[in-house]
Amino acid sequence: MLQIFSILIFIGFVTGAFAEPVKVASLSTVLTDIARNVGGDRVEVREIIKPGSDPHLYEPTPGDIKKISNVQIVLASGLGFEPYLDKLRSSVQKSGVTFVVAESAVKPLACAEEDHHDHSHSHGASDPHWWHSIANVESVTLQLRDAFIAVDPDGRAHFEANAKAFEAKLKVLAKWTRLQLAVLPKRKRILVTSHDALGYFARDYGFQVLPVQGISTSDQPSSQKVRNLIQEIKAFGVKAIFAENIENPKVLQQITIETGANLGGTLYADGLGVGEAGTYIGMMKSNVTTIVGALQ
Ligand SMILES: [Zn+2]
Repeated sequence: MLQIFSILIFIGFVTGAFAEPVKVASLSTVLTDIARNVGGDRVEVREIIKPGSDPHLYEPTPGDIKKISNVQIVLASGLGFEPYLDKLRSSVQKSGVTFVVAESAVKPLACAEEDHHDHSHSHGASDPHWWHSIANVESVTLQLRDAFIAVDPDGRAHFEANAKAFEAKLKVLAKWTRLQLAVLPKRKRILVTSHDALGYFARDYGFQVLPVQGISTSDQPSSQKVRNLIQEIKAFGVKAIFAENIENPKVLQQITIETGANLGGTLYADGLGVGEAGTYIGMMKSNVTTIVGALQ
């Protein structure tokens, strides 16, 4: 009996079945989900940013920095989404952590013109909410696959198969999204949202975004801006405006009262939620269903 057990352990070592999983820390709930899909049981992802929290307001704690210095790969969005990223990178430099930043895999979208003039927020000239384009998520899936292979070459076949399976699911999601949105004529494709997070979605599906705040949740709208927005909502005959899962919808309520538009439901703007919106695909489906239901 003992002999058989020893042989099993030996086989385990040879095939890598007892290999330690690749340790990953994620600064994005969306990247956490992609990493879990691509990595499977060969990757262990620690969520630094949790679903339902506001990533715009996050600052790494000493405990987080300690966690991050104990992993092999850190996942981040880049594009200015993590203003602390350079500082974090230099503080964990010695531990030999690799930073995998979605910025280098996605097709960036320039911010709306008015945001360029607003230097009060921490973002750069590109919209950092890259995951609202399914095509970007496909690119990042391949980026994570390659990053995992680089750290764990024995897992190549595993990572390749997982990435392929996730890509296939994203293709189905993309097709489903187009089909759902087909019921909305061009004139109804206007998104009034709390902050300017859905630019990539708007680009892909021909929507116009009218945000109350700027590109970050910390941008505060001036009363002049809110007045202009109310005029636009009336002029376009917008039926519904949207709150966000981690926003204070107070200003939106004021706008609905003055314009007669409805609150169209809650959109996941800055990452994943819990329950049905706890995966990337679930989150996108929730947003599309909410948008179509309110604007139809
Ligand atoms: Zn945001």
